[in-house]
Amino acid sequence: MIGKLISLISKLCMGKNKAIVLCYHSISKMKLDKHLKFIETIFRIETLQNIIEPSIGENRSVQVAFTMDDLYRKSYRAWVEVICKRNVPSTVFIPTWYSLNNDTIWSMKLIRIFDVISMSFIDINKRKINFQNRFKKKEYLDKLIRQFQDSHIQTQELDDICNNLLDYNCVDLMDDQLIVELKELKRDYDRFPLLSIQSHTHRHYKLAFIKREEVEQDVQESLKILNANDLFRDEKRIICYPYGSDRLIGDSYNNVMKYFDAGVVLGKSRLNGSRNYLIPRLGVYESDSILRLWIKIIMFSWKK
Ligand SMILES: [Zn+2]
Repeated sequence: MIGKLISLISKLCMGKNKAIVLCYHSISKMKLDKHLKFIETIFRIETLQNIIEPSIGENRSVQVAFTMDDLYRKSYRAWVEVICKRNVPSTVFIPTWYSLNNDTIWSMKLIRIFDVISMSFIDINKRKINFQNRFKKKEYLDKLIRQFQDSHIQTQELDDICNNLLDYNCVDLMDDQLIVELKELKRDYDRFPLLSIQSHTHRHYKLAFIKREEVEQDVQESLKILNANDLFRDEKRIICYPYGSDRLIGDSYNNVMKYFDAGVVLGKSRLNGSRNYLIPRLGVYESDSILRLWIKIIMFSWKK
């Protein structure tokens, strides 16, 4: 009853865009479970494939698709437990290099360092920085991640910098912070027919800062690996651009069109190109309560 009421209010409040793609990165099992239960009561869950190519006929219901990027093992296991085991369709995007090399993306390394250290941090110049309290520490971490992300420093170099920072601060990575291995993905892929595995490129580069040939080489490599491991069903190929922002995507979406049927970004893109290669997604985080998630979905449907 309450579910039906909220569903009706949602429909009335929502803007033009009634197909919403959610994008998760790091998430706990408990939070994901809460989100899923809410979404499945209020909206209709669809595959990303169907949202890209809606079936003929008018569709008045609000559709929501679940996607996850990067696939840090712990969050990915939560995904399998909550989403796949409940037979909910979803799409996950894997950066293949990390999967093959038992490694993780630099931002996860920074998060790990700041989880372990108490109130002092050794920076890249080997200087010791002291924090007055945990809020200041969190503020510093958030700023550092933003700075690294917005900089012209390429992913591979950021990975090296963060490997050094792990060393300087005497911190080890944990297994469940690494990107999930291909054999683990393959096992789940064979078990869950509604799980779609797609490319998050090979090396997770800031695509705007590499040459056209390098972009093509990188995505070709990732597709080759996914194909060789039998991780593609007979379905559309979708690319998830690393970092997902217009600034870091640049015009690379033009260079990948021949390899993919569609592409997804994070947030909404203002780039001028085929809409199927710039599909908007709403970022959802551990800090999102049900109420906040609901408001975010409604706001996103209006956002230009
Ligand atoms: Zn990513």
